[in-house]
Amino acid sequence: MQPHPEPIGADDFRTFPRQLDGKARSRHHAEYAGWHRSAYWNGRRFDRFPEYIVRAQSLDDVAHSIDFARAHGLSVSVRGSGHSYAGCFLRDTGLLLDLSALDRIEVDAEAGTASVQPGVGARRLSAALAAHGLAFPTGHGGEVGLSGFLLGGGLGINFRAWSDISAFSVRAVDLIDAQGRLLRASAEQHPELFWAARGGGPGLFFAAVRFHLQCRPLPACITSCAYRCELARVGELMDEIERSAPPPALQVMLALVADSGGRYALLTTLAFADTPAQAQALHRALSSQLPPALAEPVGVDEPSSFESIYRGSEAMLSAGRYRSDNILTDRGADAARVLAAHLPRSPSPASLPLLIWRGEPALADAAFSARGRWFVSTYAQWPHERDDDANRRWLKALYDELAGLASGCYINEFDLEQRSAQAARCFAPAHWTRLRELRRRYDPGGVFHDVRIDRR
Ligand SMILES: Cc1cc2nc3c(=O)[nH]c(=O)nc-3n(C[C@H](O)[C@H](O)[C@H](O)COP(=O)(O)OP(=O)(O)OC[C@H]3O[C@@H](n4cnc5c(N)ncnc54)[C@H](O)[C@@H]3O)c2cc1C
Repeated sequence: MQPHPEPIGADDFRTFPRQLDGKARSRHHAEYAGWHRSAYWNGRRFDRFPEYIVRAQSLDDVAHSIDFARAHGLSVSVRGSGHSYAGCFLRDTGLLLDLSALDRIEVDAEAGTASVQPGVGARRLSAALAAHGLAFPTGHGGEVGLSGFLLGGGLGINFRAWSDISAFSVRAVDLIDAQGRLLRASAEQHPELFWAARGGGPGLFFAAVRFHLQCRPLPACITSCAYRCELARVGELMDEIERSAPPPALQVMLALVADSGGRYALLTTLAFADTPAQAQALHRALSSQLPPALAEPVGVDEPSSFESIYRGSEAMLSAGRYRSDNILTDRGADAARVLAAHLPRSPSPASLPLLIWRGEPALADAAFSARGRWFVSTYAQWPHERDDDANRRWLKALYDELAGLASGCYINEFDLEQRSAQAARCFAPAHWTRLRELRRRYDPGGVFHDVRIDRR
């Protein structure tokens, strides 16, 4: 923190909101409880309470809030759209800077670029781009904000064909730093901040206020195929998928889902193409390699779209209360065996492991540095508060065991409530060291909260 910050007095907080275009509430205000509750998407109750919440309406509000926090020794956390499973922007002290009302989109159709403010969600951006025949690898949830998604890396739609991690399709980031200065970070300007902004995730040391995106032509033909596989044979199926080396424009995902007969694996492939014939060829590149006894087709060449991908993701996450954790691994089949052993003990049949084929992309030089051919994430979900602890313990035991197979983890879906002390696991060692150095250099006073949110 500041060496000698001025302790905050009631008068300071009365005058501060008058400088804002937006609004601010302290913990003592009657509206605070409602503001706190509506800050997070997760239906669980988070019991971390910032002293102040600011709903910014302008870039000046962001700079004023950071200056106010710095002057009074308050640490700042930043909220984009509030979709962090761990609610990691909620801290016990300091000032929560809510940027969700900054939600402008500007598209330059000729250049194939767009710039978005932090409150913009995936669905709105895709609709704005589609009007110009463009697309961007947003996340799979339609309401998920671009800002937390991109700052943590972002595993987006058609990611294997479109730069792997969505942050690699960001050309520049406008940000307000710990000194309250508005800076543009790009390959040419403040390159170290640009490096950090592409994957540094929760614990970054600035507020990002605009992202400049490189867009792609919208594929004219998106189709999906689905196959059913016995849970006991998922490892074999994953080995076959690896052997077939799926083409980049084919997104390949296994969901371990439950029905009345128990758990099974649903393999879904999404082809991003310009014509139906091209899409069929993409699907066939994999399906022709799969033994029929291993993968029974249950849906063939069905029309899809960004909107149906969003709806599918929303339908998969509907139980209300959530925790997530993940690993990246080159040992996908071994990870599937660990999942199969733990699933019968899951307190909730709705909890959903996903195994996503990533392959071995060449990573840009950026903070995002997690490697592993398979992304193995689990979304524990359940409807009742009484089951919170059982689900927490189940997910922890599962990922304690999977950790032995990990070659990395994805910071945005890492269980920061239980593992934030292990956040280094989400980065290559040299990248983690560099991120820590950059934090010390750009925010020596600790104006921005660090990644650590668990209380142990
Ligand atoms: C339904 C659902 C679907 C999802 N699908 C995907 C997916 O397909 N691919 C994927 O990769 N991830 C996915 N995620 C995870 C998602 O990437 C994270 O939850 C991400 O944090 C969401 O962004 P947000 O703006 O809501 O972040 P918030 O929850 O608002 O904030 C999380 C953290 O991000 C940082 N942050 C956010 N905005 C800013 C900012 N402007 N400046 C500085 N720091 C900021 C802060 O450290 C903050 O604590 C999904 C999540 C959900 C709930």
